[in-house]
Amino acid sequence: MDQDQIERLIGASDLPSLLAALAHATGDPDLAPSDLWLDPARALEPEDGWDADQLKRARALVSAGLARLGASEAGEDRGPDDSLVPSLIDWLTGADLDDGYRRMLAEELAVTGDLRIPEQIRSGEWPPRAASDHPVAVIGAGMSGILAAHRLKQAGVDCVVLDKNSDVGGTWLENTYPGCRVDVFNHVYSYSGEQRPDWPEYHSSQPVLLDYFRGCAQRWGIRDRIRFGVRVESLEWDGSARRWVIRLETGSGTEEITAGAVVSAVGQLNRPLMPDIEGAGSFAGEQFHSSSWRHDIDWQRLRVAVIGTGASALQFIPHLVELADHVTVFQRTPPWLIPRPVYHEPLAEGLLRLFELVPGYAHWFRLRLFWCTHEGTVGALRRDPAWDGPLERAVSPRNDEARKLLTMYLEHQFGDRPDLLAKVVPDYPVGAKRVVLDNGIWASTLKRPNVELVSDGIARIEPDGVRGSDGRLHSADVIVYGTGFRASEFLMPMRVTGRDGADLHETWNGDARAYNGVCIPGFPNLFCLYGPNTNIVVNGSIIYFAECAAHYVVECLRLLAERGATAMDCRPDAYERYAARMDEHNSQMAWGISPVNSWYKSASGRVAQNWPLPLIDYWRQTRRPDPDDFELL
Ligand code: NAP
Repeated sequence: MDQDQIERLIGASDLPSLLAALAHATGDPDLAPSDLWLDPARALEPEDGWDADQLKRARALVSAGLARLGASEAGEDRGPDDSLVPSLIDWLTGADLDDGYRRMLAEELAVTGDLRIPEQIRSGEWPPRAASDHPVAVIGAGMSGILAAHRLKQAGVDCVVLDKNSDVGGTWLENTYPGCRVDVFNHVYSYSGEQRPDWPEYHSSQPVLLDYFRGCAQRWGIRDRIRFGVRVESLEWDGSARRWVIRLETGSGTEEITAGAVVSAVGQLNRPLMPDIEGAGSFAGEQFHSSSWRHDIDWQRLRVAVIGTGASALQFIPHLVELADHVTVFQRTPPWLIPRPVYHEPLAEGLLRLFELVPGYAHWFRLRLFWCTHEGTVGALRRDPAWDGPLERAVSPRNDEARKLLTMYLEHQFGDRPDLLAKVVPDYPVGAKRVVLDNGIWASTLKRPNVELVSDGIARIEPDGVRGSDGRLHSADVIVYGTGFRASEFLMPMRVTGRDGADLHETWNGDARAYNGVCIPGFPNLFCLYGPNTNIVVNGSIIYFAECAAHYVVECLRLLAERGATAMDCRPDAYERYAARMDEHNSQMAWGISPVNSWYKSASGRVAQNWPLPLIDYWRQTRRPDPDDFELL
């Protein structure tokens, strides 16, 4: 490879992760030297805060590293050295990590293989044989459910997976609206043990994601454990047999099966929220929710009203405006836009080439994205007690700085349209609602002549369209609801009856909580994935939470096996303490402080969805169940 080719590759790369990968692959720690230490406080600066000399040196080291790699592959030099991995993790993060943190990051890196494979629970130890039809029933074959089935299988525990759909994929199967794509970097939005270097785009589209999850289920050999087309109607704890009785709607009738434990992997965003707008039933045209996209509609010559401007709507509206005659967008609250120039870009060819050339580079690249997007940004959403500015505007100086930067971005995007600019700048702190990625597409969409943005409210829906609060009728042939999901109604509409006939939804009373996001007192051996207070807002991928929670479930079953117990029930005091801790920390976050409406809150206004702490805290608390926090049965 000549110097020009090397320079081109370097231009496409992320230098720090490339140096770490080269150091690992060549066994030469000097390729990640201490004078190129990455200061985490400067992670968001251009070139990570490296000055011109440091950049020059980094590039020279990459050239040297690539030459060394060629030599080591030819057997003329050292080869890969796995013992360097911990120190390279330290170097790449620039942080003062303890062993636990390092281990968590090594699991995410997984450059030497899947480090999250659980140890076997010895066959027959749990559950006692013949107690139930299945040791474990997993509800849902989406991202969390197939992972749970995989980890259980690795631990030697048999399970059945129950899904109402005809295939795996959950949200990625159901949401097929045009423009649907993952808004987390795709390398991070993937299982640590099942990484894919060659994502076609930095944020791949729904069919690609669905394909990935199908491929995982296939490779993991769990498809034959999945029963498709069955809907779980109810779960009832049978205290004498210590098992769950599960009633299913199978399409041809009802059926009852039993399981020693149930893992709910039903997601938070799978039940559409259809708003209660006066007159909606009178509308003469077609109307549907974004998660049930009507692919049979010929949009030409149609006038469309879209209600909502959240993450889903901002993905499909740019496509709709290309197809329909006219689109009226009804916005209640504008989202903050985060500039992401590569939002729709294919992965750089040079990067793909480097993934092929440098063993493990894709893993190091993924770890770097994970690190830079996890604790880096969330700190800007935490309240600073020293901040004396108005809380309705920002919760800390950093949060205010983010507000200024993102306002400047909007001013830049909409500067030539003051009428639109006045409508699109949010009046709540950054992070109080879900931020939306943008590469300029939202401004170019709203500026089209066939688009109108209405931001002063909806009075009612009439047969011919949507009447605004100002009395104007916006004629429409179709209404599309981009109005989100009933996120706070965890485990609905299943009826769940626990010990002594307790009803889960009455217990929660509209305000779901779970110890570690997983366990609820009175409901033994019921484990939730993506349960209450496990949603993340700006930092990283929800797959991380699914991995931690799936690990925890396996460890809970191991505890039962070790103690010769059949079931475990979380103690109410542990549950209350945990919920209070979540509430205390959420009350210090932008989404807990701001009164702006968001799907992060339950009807009572409590933040029932979000995780308010560093990601490492969830990893630590899901390593092993604390036996003192459970009653073993
Ligand atoms: P959402 O963020 O909850 O947005 C719903 C939109 O509908 C909001 O603009 C909301 O306004 C509006 N709305 C709701 N009820 C209304 C009413 N009665 N009248 C007028 N407007 C109303 O839902 P979403 O866009 O489907 O996104 C939900 C979450 O799914 C996202 O936050 C994200 O976590 C996830 N998601 C991920 C991806 C991805 O990764 N590819 C894509 C899409 C969604 P208000 O803001 O005023 O409430």
